[in-house]
Amino acid sequence: MSQTEGVYGYSAVLMGSPILLKLFEHNETLASQVFRLIKQYEDLLTVNRAESQVMSINHAAGKHPVTVSRPVFELIKCAKAASLFPDSIFNLAIGPLVKRWKIGFKGDSVPPEQDIAALLPRTQPHQVVLDEAEGSVYLAHTGMEIDLGAIAKGYIADRVRDFLKRQGVEQGLINLGGNVQTLGSPEGGWSIGLKKPFSGPDEMLGVIEVANKSVVTSGVYERYFELDGKRYHHILDPRTGYPLDNDLDSVTIVSTDSIDGDIWTTLIYGMGVEKGCAVLANRPDIEAIFVTKRREIILSSASQFRFTLLADGYQLITGSTA
Ligand code: ADP
Ligand code: MG
Repeated sequence: MSQTEGVYGYSAVLMGSPILLKLFEHNETLASQVFRLIKQYEDLLTVNRAESQVMSINHAAGKHPVTVSRPVFELIKCAKAASLFPDSIFNLAIGPLVKRWKIGFKGDSVPPEQDIAALLPRTQPHQVVLDEAEGSVYLAHTGMEIDLGAIAKGYIADRVRDFLKRQGVEQGLINLGGNVQTLGSPEGGWSIGLKKPFSGPDEMLGVIEVANKSVVTSGVYERYFELDGKRYHHILDPRTGYPLDNDLDSVTIVSTDSIDGDIWTTLIYGMGVEKGCAVLANRPDIEAIFVTKRREIILSSASQFRFTLLADGYQLITGSTA
Protein backbone atom coordinates (compact mmCIF):
# COMPACT_ATOMS: atom_id res chain seq x y z
CA MET A 1 0.00 0.00 0.00
CA SER A 2 1.27 3.48 -0.80
CA GLN A 3 -0.23 6.83 0.06
CA THR A 4 0.09 10.25 -1.55
CA GLU A 5 -2.20 13.21 -0.90
CA GLY A 6 -5.14 11.16 0.31
CA VAL A 7 -4.90 8.61 -2.48
CA TYR A 8 -4.19 5.03 -1.37
CA GLY A 9 -2.53 2.74 -3.90
CA TYR A 10 -2.70 -1.05 -3.76
CA SER A 11 -0.71 -3.24 -6.12
CA ALA A 12 -0.54 -6.86 -7.17
CA VAL A 13 0.72 -8.90 -10.11
CA LEU A 14 -2.07 -10.70 -11.93
CA MET A 15 -2.57 -11.79 -15.55
CA GLY A 16 1.17 -11.40 -16.02
CA SER A 17 0.84 -7.64 -15.43
CA PRO A 18 1.33 -5.19 -12.59
CA ILE A 19 -2.11 -4.21 -11.30
CA LEU A 20 -2.75 -0.94 -9.47
CA LEU A 21 -5.86 0.07 -7.56
CA LYS A 22 -6.30 3.62 -6.28
CA LEU A 23 -8.83 4.52 -3.61
CA PHE A 24 -9.54 7.62 -1.57
CA GLU A 25 -9.79 5.64 1.65
CA HIS A 26 -7.55 3.13 3.36
CA ASN A 27 -9.41 -0.15 2.79
CA GLU A 28 -7.31 -3.32 2.57
CA THR A 29 -10.43 -5.50 2.62
CA LEU A 30 -11.89 -3.82 -0.43
CA ALA A 31 -8.52 -3.99 -2.21
CA SER A 32 -8.22 -7.74 -1.61
CA GLN A 33 -11.81 -8.23 -2.80
CA VAL A 34 -10.92 -6.41 -6.03
CA PHE A 35 -7.80 -8.52 -6.56
CA ARG A 36 -9.78 -11.70 -5.84
CA LEU A 37 -12.39 -10.67 -8.43
CA ILE A 38 -9.67 -10.10 -11.05
CA LYS A 39 -8.15 -13.48 -10.24
CA GLN A 40 -11.51 -15.22 -10.61
CA TYR A 41 -11.94 -13.78 -14.10
CA GLU A 42 -8.35 -14.60 -15.01
CA ASP A 43 -8.99 -18.21 -13.96
CA LEU A 44 -11.96 -18.38 -16.36
CA LEU A 45 -10.39 -16.62 -19.33
CA THR A 46 -6.66 -17.33 -19.44
CA VAL A 47 -5.02 -19.32 -22.22
CA ASN A 48 -1.61 -19.20 -20.57
CA ARG A 49 -2.32 -22.24 -18.39
CA ALA A 50 -3.48 -25.79 -19.10
CA GLU A 51 -6.95 -25.28 -17.60
CA SER A 52 -9.60 -22.55 -17.74
CA GLN A 53 -13.06 -22.33 -19.30
CA VAL A 54 -11.53 -20.94 -22.48
CA MET A 55 -8.93 -23.74 -22.48
CA SER A 56 -11.76 -26.29 -22.20
CA ILE A 57 -13.19 -24.85 -25.43
CA ASN A 58 -9.74 -25.01 -27.05
CA HIS A 59 -9.11 -28.59 -25.91
CA ALA A 60 -12.44 -29.62 -27.48
CA ALA A 61 -11.70 -28.00 -30.87
CA GLY A 62 -13.01 -30.15 -33.71
CA LYS A 63 -14.62 -32.51 -31.22
CA HIS A 64 -17.58 -31.02 -29.38
CA PRO A 65 -19.16 -27.80 -28.08
CA VAL A 66 -18.42 -26.73 -24.51
CA THR A 67 -20.96 -24.99 -22.28
CA VAL A 68 -19.36 -22.11 -20.41
CA SER A 69 -20.51 -19.64 -17.77
CA ARG A 70 -22.57 -16.70 -18.99
CA PRO A 71 -19.86 -14.01 -18.67
CA VAL A 72 -17.42 -16.15 -20.68
CA PHE A 73 -20.06 -16.78 -23.35
CA GLU A 74 -20.95 -13.07 -23.59
CA LEU A 75 -17.30 -12.04 -23.81
CA ILE A 76 -16.61 -14.56 -26.59
CA LYS A 77 -19.73 -13.35 -28.40
CA CYS A 78 -18.48 -9.79 -28.17
CA ALA A 79 -14.98 -10.80 -29.35
CA LYS A 80 -16.48 -12.70 -32.30
CA ALA A 81 -18.60 -9.67 -33.28
CA ALA A 82 -15.48 -7.44 -33.18
CA SER A 83 -13.65 -9.98 -35.34
CA LEU A 84 -16.39 -9.83 -37.97
CA PHE A 85 -16.49 -5.99 -38.26
CA PRO A 86 -15.65 -4.80 -41.78
CA ASP A 87 -11.85 -4.43 -42.20
CA SER A 88 -11.25 -5.74 -38.68
CA ILE A 89 -7.83 -7.05 -37.77
CA PHE A 90 -9.22 -8.11 -34.41
CA ASN A 91 -9.44 -11.90 -34.45
CA LEU A 92 -10.44 -13.98 -31.42
CA ALA A 93 -9.34 -17.16 -33.22
CA ILE A 94 -5.74 -15.91 -33.55
CA GLY A 95 -4.61 -18.38 -30.83
CA PRO A 96 -2.60 -20.85 -32.95
CA LEU A 97 -0.44 -18.01 -34.32
CA VAL A 98 0.02 -16.36 -30.91
CA LYS A 99 1.12 -19.71 -29.46
CA ARG A 100 3.51 -20.32 -32.37
CA TRP A 101 5.21 -16.92 -32.17
CA LYS A 102 5.31 -16.84 -28.34
CA ILE A 103 5.97 -13.09 -28.44
CA GLY A 104 6.50 -11.81 -24.92
CA PHE A 105 7.10 -15.33 -23.63
CA LYS A 106 10.12 -17.62 -23.33
CA GLY A 107 11.13 -19.27 -26.60
CA ASP A 108 9.89 -16.55 -28.97
CA SER A 109 11.19 -16.96 -32.52
CA VAL A 110 10.27 -16.16 -36.11
CA PRO A 111 8.40 -19.24 -37.34
CA PRO A 112 9.22 -20.67 -40.79
CA GLU A 113 6.90 -19.32 -43.49
CA GLN A 114 5.32 -22.70 -44.12
CA ASP A 115 4.35 -22.99 -40.43
CA ILE A 116 2.52 -19.67 -40.59
CA ALA A 117 0.83 -20.65 -43.85
CA ALA A 118 -0.29 -23.93 -42.26
CA LEU A 119 -1.74 -22.17 -39.18
CA LEU A 120 -3.61 -19.36 -40.97
CA PRO A 121 -6.57 -21.56 -42.02
CA ARG A 122 -7.11 -22.45 -38.35
CA THR A 123 -7.76 -18.81 -37.40
CA GLN A 124 -11.18 -18.18 -38.98
CA PRO A 125 -13.48 -16.29 -36.59
CA HIS A 126 -16.68 -17.52 -38.30
CA GLN A 127 -15.65 -21.06 -37.34
CA VAL A 128 -16.19 -20.13 -33.69
CA VAL A 129 -19.75 -21.46 -33.41
CA LEU A 130 -21.95 -20.04 -30.64
CA ASP A 131 -25.15 -21.62 -29.36
CA GLU A 132 -27.07 -18.95 -27.47
CA ALA A 133 -29.64 -21.34 -25.92
CA GLU A 134 -27.01 -23.82 -24.71
CA GLY A 135 -24.48 -21.13 -23.81
CA SER A 136 -21.91 -23.25 -25.63
CA VAL A 137 -18.92 -22.54 -27.86
CA TYR A 138 -17.65 -24.91 -30.54
CA LEU A 139 -14.45 -24.53 -32.54
CA ALA A 140 -15.29 -26.22 -35.82
CA HIS A 141 -11.75 -27.48 -36.63
CA THR A 142 -9.04 -29.27 -34.72
CA GLY A 143 -6.12 -27.04 -33.90
CA MET A 144 -8.28 -23.91 -33.49
CA GLU A 145 -7.70 -21.82 -30.36
CA ILE A 146 -9.49 -18.80 -28.95
CA ASP A 147 -7.24 -16.06 -27.49
CA LEU A 148 -8.94 -13.28 -25.51
CA GLY A 149 -5.69 -11.44 -24.73
CA ALA A 150 -6.81 -8.36 -26.64
CA ILE A 151 -10.14 -7.97 -24.82
CA ALA A 152 -10.06 -9.70 -21.41
CA LYS A 153 -8.37 -6.90 -19.47
CA GLY A 154 -10.89 -4.37 -20.73
CA TYR A 155 -13.78 -6.61 -19.75
CA ILE A 156 -12.31 -7.22 -16.29
CA ALA A 157 -11.58 -3.51 -15.74
CA ASP A 158 -15.30 -2.82 -16.30
CA ARG A 159 -16.29 -5.55 -13.84
CA VAL A 160 -13.98 -3.96 -11.22
CA ARG A 161 -15.59 -0.56 -11.83
CA ASP A 162 -19.07 -2.09 -11.43
CA PHE A 163 -18.00 -3.86 -8.24
CA LEU A 164 -16.57 -0.66 -6.73
CA LYS A 165 -19.77 1.21 -7.61
CA ARG A 166 -21.89 -1.47 -5.92
CA GLN A 167 -19.69 -1.12 -2.83
CA GLY A 168 -20.58 2.57 -2.72
CA VAL A 169 -17.16 3.76 -3.86
CA GLU A 170 -17.46 7.13 -5.60
CA GLN A 171 -13.89 7.61 -6.74
CA GLY A 172 -11.38 4.98 -7.75
CA LEU A 173 -9.04 3.84 -10.47
CA ILE A 174 -7.95 0.42 -11.65
CA ASN A 175 -4.95 -0.06 -13.93
CA LEU A 176 -4.63 -3.54 -15.38
CA GLY A 177 -1.27 -3.04 -17.04
CA GLY A 178 -2.26 -0.59 -19.77
CA ASN A 179 -6.03 -0.78 -19.32
CA VAL A 180 -7.16 2.02 -17.02
CA GLN A 181 -10.75 2.41 -15.84
CA THR A 182 -11.75 5.34 -13.66
CA LEU A 183 -14.65 6.05 -11.36
CA GLY A 184 -15.63 9.57 -10.40
CA SER A 185 -13.90 12.86 -10.88
CA PRO A 186 -11.42 13.80 -8.16
CA GLU A 187 -10.66 17.53 -8.34
CA GLY A 188 -11.26 17.98 -12.03
CA GLY A 189 -10.33 14.49 -13.16
CA TRP A 190 -7.84 11.63 -13.10
CA SER A 191 -4.44 12.21 -14.66
CA ILE A 192 -3.18 9.26 -16.64
CA GLY A 193 0.30 9.23 -18.09
CA LEU A 194 0.83 8.18 -21.70
CA LYS A 195 4.14 6.34 -21.98
CA LYS A 196 6.84 7.41 -24.36
CA PRO A 197 7.38 4.52 -26.80
CA PHE A 198 10.60 2.51 -26.35
CA SER A 199 11.64 4.57 -23.30
CA GLY A 200 11.95 3.95 -19.56
CA PRO A 201 8.76 3.21 -17.60
CA ASP A 202 8.68 6.72 -16.13
CA GLU A 203 9.18 8.63 -19.37
CA MET A 204 5.90 10.25 -20.37
CA LEU A 205 4.74 11.56 -23.73
CA GLY A 206 1.92 13.40 -22.09
CA VAL A 207 -0.93 13.32 -19.63
CA ILE A 208 -4.57 12.48 -20.30
CA GLU A 209 -7.18 13.88 -17.90
CA VAL A 210 -10.52 12.07 -17.68
CA ALA A 211 -13.47 11.47 -15.36
CA ASN A 212 -15.59 8.31 -15.39
CA LYS A 213 -13.77 7.08 -18.50
CA SER A 214 -11.54 4.26 -19.57
CA VAL A 215 -8.12 4.85 -21.12
CA VAL A 216 -6.61 1.87 -22.95
CA THR A 217 -3.27 1.90 -24.73
CA SER A 218 -1.95 -0.75 -27.05
CA GLY A 219 1.58 -0.21 -28.21
CA VAL A 220 4.09 -2.14 -30.25
CA TYR A 221 6.71 -1.30 -27.61
CA GLU A 222 4.91 -3.27 -24.89
CA ARG A 223 5.84 -6.80 -25.85
CA TYR A 224 8.27 -7.55 -28.64
CA PHE A 225 11.56 -9.20 -29.51
CA GLU A 226 14.29 -8.24 -31.93
CA LEU A 227 16.08 -10.47 -34.40
CA ASP A 228 18.60 -9.40 -37.05
CA GLY A 229 17.70 -5.75 -36.47
CA LYS A 230 13.99 -6.33 -37.03
CA ARG A 231 11.38 -5.84 -34.35
CA TYR A 232 8.55 -8.35 -33.89
CA HIS A 233 5.70 -7.13 -31.66
CA HIS A 234 2.64 -8.83 -30.21
CA ILE A 235 -0.23 -7.54 -32.37
CA LEU A 236 -0.52 -9.98 -35.24
CA ASP A 237 -2.10 -9.28 -38.60
CA PRO A 238 -4.57 -12.13 -39.14
CA ARG A 239 -4.32 -11.64 -42.92
CA THR A 240 -0.61 -12.44 -43.02
CA GLY A 241 0.16 -14.19 -39.73
CA TYR A 242 2.99 -11.68 -39.06
CA PRO A 243 3.12 -8.70 -36.66
CA LEU A 244 1.10 -5.87 -38.13
CA ASP A 245 3.30 -3.49 -40.05
CA ASN A 246 2.30 0.18 -40.13
CA ASP A 247 3.49 3.62 -39.11
CA LEU A 248 2.10 3.57 -35.55
CA ASP A 249 3.90 3.11 -32.25
CA SER A 250 0.72 3.14 -30.16
CA VAL A 251 -2.99 3.81 -30.09
CA THR A 252 -4.85 4.98 -26.99
CA ILE A 253 -8.63 4.85 -26.82
CA VAL A 254 -10.76 6.94 -24.44
CA SER A 255 -14.26 5.50 -23.98
CA THR A 256 -16.83 4.84 -21.27
CA ASP A 257 -16.32 1.08 -21.16
CA SER A 258 -12.86 -0.39 -21.12
CA ILE A 259 -13.98 -3.37 -23.21
CA ASP A 260 -14.65 -0.91 -26.05
CA GLY A 261 -11.24 0.64 -25.49
CA ASP A 262 -9.58 -2.75 -25.66
CA ILE A 263 -11.39 -3.76 -28.87
CA TRP A 264 -10.93 -0.39 -30.55
CA THR A 265 -7.20 -0.09 -29.83
CA THR A 266 -6.70 -3.23 -31.92
CA LEU A 267 -9.23 -2.22 -34.62
CA ILE A 268 -7.81 1.28 -34.96
CA TYR A 269 -4.23 0.07 -34.81
CA GLY A 270 -5.09 -2.05 -37.84
CA MET A 271 -6.78 0.82 -39.70
CA GLY A 272 -4.07 3.43 -39.20
CA VAL A 273 -4.56 7.19 -38.79
CA GLU A 274 -6.56 8.18 -41.87
CA LYS A 275 -9.07 5.36 -41.94
CA GLY A 276 -9.22 5.26 -38.13
CA CYS A 277 -10.16 8.96 -37.92
CA ALA A 278 -12.75 8.51 -40.69
CA VAL A 279 -14.40 5.59 -38.88
CA LEU A 280 -14.34 7.38 -35.51
CA ALA A 281 -16.00 10.46 -37.02
CA ASN A 282 -19.23 8.43 -36.68
CA ARG A 283 -18.43 7.27 -33.14
CA PRO A 284 -18.20 10.31 -30.84
CA ASP A 285 -18.13 7.95 -27.85
CA ILE A 286 -14.81 6.42 -28.94
CA GLU A 287 -11.79 8.77 -29.23
CA ALA A 288 -8.27 7.86 -30.29
CA ILE A 289 -4.80 9.19 -29.62
CA PHE A 290 -2.38 7.93 -32.26
CA VAL A 291 1.38 8.03 -31.76
CA THR A 292 3.22 7.60 -35.05
CA LYS A 293 6.77 6.48 -35.71
CA ARG A 294 7.34 9.98 -37.13
CA ARG A 295 6.73 11.30 -33.59
CA GLU A 296 3.36 12.85 -34.24
CA ILE A 297 0.56 12.63 -31.70
CA ILE A 298 -2.79 12.76 -33.48
CA LEU A 299 -6.12 13.15 -31.68
CA SER A 300 -9.19 11.92 -33.61
CA SER A 301 -11.16 14.33 -31.38
CA ALA A 302 -10.96 15.29 -27.71
CA SER A 303 -14.38 15.86 -26.20
CA GLN A 304 -14.08 13.33 -23.35
CA PHE A 305 -10.54 14.14 -22.19
CA ARG A 306 -7.80 16.74 -22.05
CA PHE A 307 -4.34 15.95 -23.36
CA THR A 308 -1.17 17.77 -22.35
CA LEU A 309 2.02 17.11 -24.29
CA LEU A 310 5.10 16.68 -22.10
CA ALA A 311 7.84 15.16 -24.24
CA ASP A 312 10.20 17.11 -26.46
CA GLY A 313 10.50 16.16 -30.10
CA TYR A 314 6.84 15.24 -30.59
CA GLN A 315 4.26 17.24 -32.51
CA LEU A 316 0.61 17.40 -31.44
CA ILE A 317 -2.02 17.37 -34.22
CA THR A 318 -5.78 17.47 -33.61
CA GLY A 319 -8.55 15.77 -35.62
CA SER A 320 -9.56 18.47 -38.06
CA THR A 321 -6.03 19.03 -39.32
CA ALA A 322 -4.98 15.34 -39.20
P1 ADP B 1 -1.86 -5.83 -24.15
O1 ADP B 1 -2.75 -4.87 -23.46
O2 ADP B 1 -1.46 -7.00 -23.33
O3 ADP B 1 -0.72 -5.20 -24.88
P2 ADP B 1 -3.58 -5.97 -26.44
O4 ADP B 1 -4.92 -5.56 -26.01
O5 ADP B 1 -2.79 -5.05 -27.27
O6 ADP B 1 -2.76 -6.51 -25.21
O7 ADP B 1 -3.71 -7.36 -27.22
C1 ADP B 1 -2.58 -8.10 -27.60
C2 ADP B 1 -2.80 -9.57 -27.31
O8 ADP B 1 -3.94 -10.02 -28.03
C3 ADP B 1 -1.66 -10.44 -27.78
O9 ADP B 1 -0.73 -10.67 -26.78
C4 ADP B 1 -2.37 -11.71 -28.20
O10 ADP B 1 -2.65 -12.53 -27.08
C5 ADP B 1 -3.68 -11.21 -28.74
N1 ADP B 1 -3.65 -10.84 -30.18
C6 ADP B 1 -2.58 -10.66 -31.01
N2 ADP B 1 -2.98 -10.29 -32.24
C7 ADP B 1 -4.34 -10.23 -32.18
C8 ADP B 1 -5.35 -9.92 -33.15
N3 ADP B 1 -5.05 -9.58 -34.40
N4 ADP B 1 -6.64 -9.98 -32.73
C9 ADP B 1 -6.97 -10.32 -31.47
N5 ADP B 1 -6.07 -10.63 -30.53
C10 ADP B 1 -4.77 -10.58 -30.87
MG1 MG C 1 -6.65 -4.72 -26.74
